[in-house]
Amino acid sequence: MTGESEIIERYFRQVFADGRGVRIGIGDDGAVLSAPDGTDEIVVSCDTLVEGVHFPKQDGSGHAADLGYRCLAVNLSDLAAMAAEPRWFTLALTMPRVDNDWLQAFSGGLRECAAEANIALVGGDTCRGPLACTIQVIGFVPKGQALLRSGAALGDAIFVSGDLGAAAAWIKGQKDAAVVDLAGLESRFWRPTAQLALGKALRNLASAAIDVSDGLVRDLAHVLSASHLGARLQLEQLPLCESLHKCADHEKTVKIAAGGGDDYQLCFTVAGDRQEELERLGYELDIRLTRIGETTEGDNIDISYHGRPISLGRAGYSHFAE
Ligand code: ADP
Ligand code: MG
Repeated sequence: MTGESEIIERYFRQVFADGRGVRIGIGDDGAVLSAPDGTDEIVVSCDTLVEGVHFPKQDGSGHAADLGYRCLAVNLSDLAAMAAEPRWFTLALTMPRVDNDWLQAFSGGLRECAAEANIALVGGDTCRGPLACTIQVIGFVPKGQALLRSGAALGDAIFVSGDLGAAAAWIKGQKDAAVVDLAGLESRFWRPTAQLALGKALRNLASAAIDVSDGLVRDLAHVLSASHLGARLQLEQLPLCESLHKCADHEKTVKIAAGGGDDYQLCFTVAGDRQEELERLGYELDIRLTRIGETTEGDNIDISYHGRPISLGRAGYSHFAE
């Protein structure tokens, strides 16, 4: 099977579940979707994953299902950070050749993630070229309740969900297996969990939020610059993933966790007097929520480790940094 239409039919149109509010999905020139009723706003976001840049080169179909899962999960993470509920997505898939085993697995992984988030595939594009996958997600949030990067206030506490560093450690371990205990890390890289329930629960609680994709410090910096604030960070507070805990040098490990990307946790700010509510929420959702610092005047991020100032250098990922 080589035809584009057959690929779309077999791996995408026939096997994905129908979605809420989808009048016309895959198969026409565009999808026709029911607009929200005026009490909701629409949130749209788009992310591309390119082989060799965002994920390691694929040998055979080993990680095809994981890739399908991950492509959607990283997009859902943006909806989580906006406190939006996922509804529809489109998929632009570019691949060098038609490999049915690969497509089967990719479609399966994508479906798994879509089912978990109750989001429907409504269109896309399929073409030949170097392996890359672009997904656009569309979600809803009650009017005025989207969490923005610009909402942080002076003195707000800075929190991060879950734990950090697993994906960064996995990537590091690919290059030098001796430094990292890789057990359990692989799925943390390939199958990140978008914090959708948390994002939703933070709607009337957090002042600002971002998802941690390029590295905690780099992503927090976006919140701070949008909110015209600085911050103090206590690095020893960072919640580390299990396998990083086993590393001997704690300071080095928290630096990896602070700089490394691909965590897809939420970093958010909360007014001081709402921290008890937040504690209850973490308990209810069974999600670890850790206070790692607070916002300050100015535009610096002062980072300390057990009270001693430290520098992270150029932490985080930037595609076009020299
Ligand atoms: P057009 O030539 O109008 O762009 P295509 O042949 O590219 O149409 O696509 C036909 C239909 O299949 C459209 O509804 C499009 O949105 C959908 N589609 C194409 N590729 C994909 C894909 N990878 N996943 C889901 N839907 C797709
Ligand atoms: Mg097209």
